[in-house]
Amino acid sequence: MEKSKGLDRRRFIKMAALAAGGAAFGGRISFAGAQQTAGKPESPIYPALNNKAEKASSQGLPPLPYAENALEPVISAKTLGFHYGKHHKGYVGNLKKLVAGTEFEDLSLEKIITRTAGKADKTAIFNNAAQTWNHTFYWRSLKPKGGGEPPAVLKRKIEASFGSLDACKKALAAAAMMQFGSGWVWLVLDSGNLKVVKTGNADVPMTAGVKPLLTIDVWEHAYYLDYQNRRADYVAAVLDKLINWDFAAGNLS
Ligand code: MN
Repeated sequence: MEKSKGLDRRRFIKMAALAAGGAAFGGRISFAGAQQTAGKPESPIYPALNNKAEKASSQGLPPLPYAENALEPVISAKTLGFHYGKHHKGYVGNLKKLVAGTEFEDLSLEKIITRTAGKADKTAIFNNAAQTWNHTFYWRSLKPKGGGEPPAVLKRKIEASFGSLDACKKALAAAAMMQFGSGWVWLVLDSGNLKVVKTGNADVPMTAGVKPLLTIDVWEHAYYLDYQNRRADYVAAVLDKLINWDFAAGNLS
C-alpha cells in the first residue's frame, strides 16, 4: 500500500464510536505521528506494552503463545500455520532487510513505528514494523477457551462505555464488517473510556494517542481458509470463543 504524499505526517484512522444504541461510525481522529513524539522519543506512547510479559518490542519473531492447533475449531492449525509462519514471519524478515544498516536497525518496534508513521519515504518500514507489532498483539488477544466473561475490572469499564458486554461485542463485530479491505479492529482506552476503532492495512491506533487493549485481524489471510468470504462468522466465533479478555484487562493499567 502506498500512501499519497498529501497524507505525509497527517494520517487518519477511522474511529468507530461507542456502540450502545446506534453507533456513529466513520468519524475521524487525526494525528501527526512523528510530530507527536518530537523531542520526547522516550515517552510511553505504548503504555499498553509496559506489561513486561506482553511487551512486543522485539523486531524478531516471538513464539506463538500456544500451539498452532490450539485455537481449533475456530481458527484451524492450517490458517494459524500460514498466518504465523508465512505472513507474520514475512513481515519480520522484510523489516530486518529494510532496517539493516539504517538508524532503525537497533530500535524497538515501538520506536520504529512512531518514528516512521506518516512519513511517505518510510512507508515500507512502517508497514512491516507495524504488521510485526500488530500480529504479536493479535496472538495475545486470543486464547484457547477464550470469550466468556471479562474480569470484573474490565467488565465494569465495558458496561460504563458501551452499556453491556453484548453491545461491546456488537461494536467490535460491526467495525470489523465496516473495515473496507484489509485492516484491524481494536478495543482501545481513550481518556478513560473504552472505544472500538478500526484501522486500515498496517495502521495502528497508538500513533493517535490511544492505548490498545486487544485487536482482531480482519485481513483475509486471517480467516479465508476457514471461512472463505464470511468475515462476520470469523469475527463472531473469535469474540465468543477465543477473545482474551484477561489480556485486555491486563493492558488497562
Ligand atoms: Mn494478519
